[in-house]
Amino acid sequence: MSNNKITKSSTYNKHNSFFSFSSLNKNLEDKKIIDKIDNLYSQKTGINKINNDDQLVLKEAIKDLKQENNFKRGDSFSLTKNVIDEITSLSDDQILRYLVFRYKYEIYPKIKKIDNYPPYLQIEPSSICNYRCVFCFETDKSFTDKKNGFMGKMPLELFKNIVDQINGKIEFISLASRGEPMANPDISKMLEYCKDKFLNLKINTNASLLDEKKIHAILSGGVKTLVFSADAADETLYSELRVNGNLKKVLKNIENFQKIRTTCYPNSKIISRVSGVKFNEQQKFDDMVKLWSGLVDQVAFVDYNPWENTYLQPPNNITEACSDLWRRMFIWWDGKINPCDVDYKSELKIGNIKNSTVEKLWKSKEYNQLRNEHIKNNRSKLIPCRGCTVI
Ligand code: SF4
Repeated sequence: MSNNKITKSSTYNKHNSFFSFSSLNKNLEDKKIIDKIDNLYSQKTGINKINNDDQLVLKEAIKDLKQENNFKRGDSFSLTKNVIDEITSLSDDQILRYLVFRYKYEIYPKIKKIDNYPPYLQIEPSSICNYRCVFCFETDKSFTDKKNGFMGKMPLELFKNIVDQINGKIEFISLASRGEPMANPDISKMLEYCKDKFLNLKINTNASLLDEKKIHAILSGGVKTLVFSADAADETLYSELRVNGNLKKVLKNIENFQKIRTTCYPNSKIISRVSGVKFNEQQKFDDMVKLWSGLVDQVAFVDYNPWENTYLQPPNNITEACSDLWRRMFIWWDGKINPCDVDYKSELKIGNIKNSTVEKLWKSKEYNQLRNEHIKNNRSKLIPCRGCTVI
């Protein structure tokens, strides 16, 4: 493994973690998409699906979007290329409701507001992974050693219970966290259960375990964004980074996905993305685009964060509160609630969904205590927040 690792930036901005991004979708220009949204708002298209409180949120979102030079300011609600792709994949009567949740996701961490439910929920089908990527916590043997209790797969009944609680309450869901979701034998049933329930359902996979059954489940199960994790365009570099991985196999599986998508689901609006971690200087984004752009809609690199050794990071000087505390909540395979997956061994655990509900836990005393420590510039007192660069 070459050691020309990229220099780690002093903070990791979760709001904008794309290092490089390329989309092949031909969408409306920025200005035209805002005109379209404004038009939908004037016509009240899909407004009956938005409750009164959320209509006030929508009003703020539209006001922000209509401000001049909005795309350049970055300090208020704005639309990135990725978000425009997502909007374009929705039907007209879904767009305003989508904006409500996108606004909560981006702005609530800035204004430190908590709603009844998190703007974004990540549900972990499996903490087990067949890969040992060099930048991932799966390389920590104290995490993967079965006797330590971190490894497991979510039972289908628990998954269904969570989905029943959040259906109609949260629109942005990710089926992924610490492990490989496709390692759960019930993943196809889980996807089927999510059908027509969420506006923005995302799943991340290393694509190595993708077979025809799972591909059909993804394409018929309401997934909006499918992220294939891959970081290199040649076998040698890929295998160095994605230890246990085989690029040829992954390419074949993604080609198969694309074939089934075009032949069996020609009207599918799914957005597919190859996303890699920008870990060292050998990885060239142009090579990535060249290899993957015929097979997926988007290609991206995200910034590297030292996920693989969170607990060994020395304390830093960051005092800014972590935005994830107002943005995302994680439910792990065994029902544990955690505020992030940087803390992959649950030092910051909030509670367990088996004894409570998503709503109660999101607004719980324990969660608020953690948020307050961050607001009071006390993240240095918390492990692993004291060495973490996420803001
Ligand atoms: S470890 Fe602390 S600061 Fe880092 S992402 Fe988690 S909650 Fe935020």
